[in-house]
Amino acid sequence: MTSTVEKKKVVSEVSVQGKKEAVVDEKDVKSPTEPKAEEITSKDYYFDSYSHFGIHEEMLKDDVRTRTYMNSILQNRHLFKDKVVLDVGCGTGILCMFAAKAGAKKVIGVECAGIYHQAKKIVKANGFEDKITLVHGKLEEVELPVDKVDIIVSEWMGYFLLYESMMDSVLFARDKWLAPGGMLFPDKASMYICAIEDADYRAEKIDFWKNVYGFDMSCIQELALMEPLVDVCNPNQIISDSDSILEVDLYTVKKEDLDFSSDFSIKITRNDFCHAFVAYFTATFSKSHKPLVISTDPRCKYTHWKQTVFYMDKDFPAAVGDVIKGHISCSRNGKNPRDLNIELRSECDGKEAKHSHSRKYRLR
Ligand code: SAH
Repeated sequence: MTSTVEKKKVVSEVSVQGKKEAVVDEKDVKSPTEPKAEEITSKDYYFDSYSHFGIHEEMLKDDVRTRTYMNSILQNRHLFKDKVVLDVGCGTGILCMFAAKAGAKKVIGVECAGIYHQAKKIVKANGFEDKITLVHGKLEEVELPVDKVDIIVSEWMGYFLLYESMMDSVLFARDKWLAPGGMLFPDKASMYICAIEDADYRAEKIDFWKNVYGFDMSCIQELALMEPLVDVCNPNQIISDSDSILEVDLYTVKKEDLDFSSDFSIKITRNDFCHAFVAYFTATFSKSHKPLVISTDPRCKYTHWKQTVFYMDKDFPAAVGDVIKGHISCSRNGKNPRDLNIELRSECDGKEAKHSHSRKYRLR
């Protein structure tokens, strides 16, 4: 288990400064020139992590992610043939190239980070220059060379589905450019919650601070509890069934709906100690001939999104058949909309213990 510190979906304010005006790059007229590789410093990457190839390497090598996108496009040539496709946040241009390969008439990829310069070269190297037009800039600020598109593809999902998520940008693109009857790939997303036993890892990450080489650092324990952990959860730690906490239909959802709250009810499936709740999500390509789903369920294959773990202040003994009734609410932080404020309450009138817990978390 390793905790991850790299920030996915960071679109830095700094990285988009200077690109306030629309930058349509058909003739490469206004596009800022590519910095020379030897001139790029860590400062550039600190403010704009998507400019570095490393984060794209991680995403491309996430086979569940990339292969499901590939299949959703290449197995649906009948949907893509002769269509105009927009890729929101094209990165290396991989989804643009899948769409071009599937027979799209025109593909437009919008990318605000420096990886755009590599995408240009990649598109050229693979002979798609006539089909794929790349636009450098923030989606919300660019002009496109078309009025409407038939299909929007985008890999926008963040940790806990919504963290630093680009869903807002996809909704912006949908409302501005998607033709009536147009399609979104993916078009549905759901989030789920279940309970886990996690004594060992809790001791390593939380209780650790009580005694660090003989010193009391327990003030950090409170901070550690507050931050949900993005990490891999072993499926045999799961001690309950799951309940859905969010269902998103991308055709109809509004930005405001993404501040959500939901009741949940989960049933304990084995006698164990309950230490934490785990959230995971799915993204579905329902227009696909054979419906395809990316799942971050701990019982499914690893993805770079892993799972999100919420530790409780104290564990409790849970018995088979006990029902945990809970409530989760999630809203963007007013000061920094990328941060998520999450509140989780749970109660269980169990066979062995009465449990009641409430805590505020901050995903940042
Ligand atoms: N589509 C690529 C990259 C996905 S990561 C792939 O599947 O591999 C998301 C990309 O979207 C990042 O490169 C990020 O820089 C870009 N991005 C995020 N928000 C954006 C916005 N508002 N406008 C343009 N690009 C954006």
